[in-house]
Amino acid sequence: MKIAFYDTKDYDKVWFEKLLPEYGYEVLFLESRLNEKTAVLAKGCKAVCLFVNDELNKETADKLFNIGVEVVLMRCAGYDKVDLKACKKKLTVMRVPSYSPTAVAEYTLAMALSANRKMHRAYARTRDFNFKINGLMGTTLKGRTVGIIGTGKIGKEAARVFWGIGMKVIGYDMYPDEKSGIEYVSLDELFEKSDVVSLHCPLTEESKYMINKDTIRKMKDDAILVNTSRGGLIDTTALIDALEKHKFRGVALDVYEEEEDYFFEDKSDEIIKSDELVKLLSFPNVLVTGHQAFFTEESLQAIAEITLNNLKAYENGNKVYNAVECK
Ligand code: NAD
Repeated sequence: MKIAFYDTKDYDKVWFEKLLPEYGYEVLFLESRLNEKTAVLAKGCKAVCLFVNDELNKETADKLFNIGVEVVLMRCAGYDKVDLKACKKKLTVMRVPSYSPTAVAEYTLAMALSANRKMHRAYARTRDFNFKINGLMGTTLKGRTVGIIGTGKIGKEAARVFWGIGMKVIGYDMYPDEKSGIEYVSLDELFEKSDVVSLHCPLTEESKYMINKDTIRKMKDDAILVNTSRGGLIDTTALIDALEKHKFRGVALDVYEEEEDYFFEDKSDEIIKSDELVKLLSFPNVLVTGHQAFFTEESLQAIAEITLNNLKAYENGNKVYNAVECK
């Protein structure tokens, strides 16, 4: 079985290459992302392995199917760029539902703390031998409230780490887990009461732009907003409008609506065409990182293992193992 591995980075190769001899698969590592034009590169492969920003739309799904691809291995949890309807009866889509919720949760806490205490600004200043602390004041988070939206695997781990610094945790989820110890409230109450709002639900039609002009208005003026989930949960235009009106103590974003044009690549020599990204980066109270919350050794190892196990299960006729329902 041959796998076409799209959007390959050196760090992906390290972990997959370590395991490949054990599984006996041949892998074609490709630097390109998957799209209508690059689908043809998978000719001769039965599986394609994709990451968060590979776009699998109808045209691409048809092309993959026509050249003999049977299975799509998402080496991530989210699959919002996969047109599941287009894959139905053509491609089996498998994913890694969980690899290290702790990695994302720990990173979420780091982002909240950095945004609060302005560590990103302090770092830039001290590298220029500017040791002034004006403008870097934060607040004590112990005793304050964090509101977690989406209390699944990552949301629950996020609750655990926020409890660790003495914060009160409230949460909102369509399917509350009463055993989690999280106090569930309505979304409105969460916005109203939270000093930190942290997003941990998937990007779906219902959750798109859940942070918008109206919901931002409901939040505290000095709230800290953290998004380590998906960029599309936030209406960036509304966020920028609010930031211009001095809303938010801090905003920490590991994901961005239009990240596929920028993230995971070095764009430092290019002119950035997204006015909104440039604007976001210009706010002193905004911290942006390039989708790295998952990025730990443990996560990469687990991603490689589970992805290859998914293919093994598919080969053994178990097409539902970690499969996403194509409807
Ligand atoms: P999960 O499926 O375990 O939990 C998601 C939770 O969100 C569920 O409890 C679900 O009921 C809830 N939910 C769904 N729609 C909702 C809505 N509209 N409002 C409120 N709650 C809603 O998923 P997880 O493993 O915890 O991952 C959560 C998300 O984190 C993923 O979908 C992915 O987008 C993101 N993620 C980001 C990174 C990163 O590196 N930045 C890494 C992994 C995952």
